[in-house]
Amino acid sequence: MKKSIVDFEMSGKVMTYTLECGHKAKFPIEQALSVRILAIDCKECKPMPRIKFYWNGIRVNGGKLQRCYFSYRNWVPSIDPETVGISAKDYDGFSAEIHDLFKVENATDSQSDYFDKDRIKVTPTHPFYTQVKAAFDAMEAHHEKRFSR
Ligand SMILES: [Zn+2]
Repeated sequence: MKKSIVDFEMSGKVMTYTLECGHKAKFPIEQALSVRILAIDCKECKPMPRIKFYWNGIRVNGGKLQRCYFSYRNWVPSIDPETVGISAKDYDGFSAEIHDLFKVENATDSQSDYFDKDRIKVTPTHPFYTQVKAAFDAMEAHHEKRFSR
């Protein structure tokens, strides 16, 4: 993903750009001055994983389905009612990529042998909100189909 340059510093034969993500990229000064560079592919930023939401789980980069279920509109008053909840079905929890993209909650306390499953609250401002909400709708549709016969 290209990142905009927010600042630069010339030192000797090296141009150091500061990118919008906060990382720095160094270029030989001749190269930096010969073309007007506005954005650079940041080598330090992890590429955005391919993430797909299904009615019964999440798949990252084509890996195994991480089973979960979705909830909506059953929150306490202090939480935005449009928030969609994601709850892991398995105790091994969500993968590192999902932990990077969402704030994962888990109340596991190994001291008291209490094991909890991963939970995520996705508010409408989250970049994946639309996809997560669509997965909730797909889950509802799936259940309706199964119980309406
Ligand atoms: Zn970066």
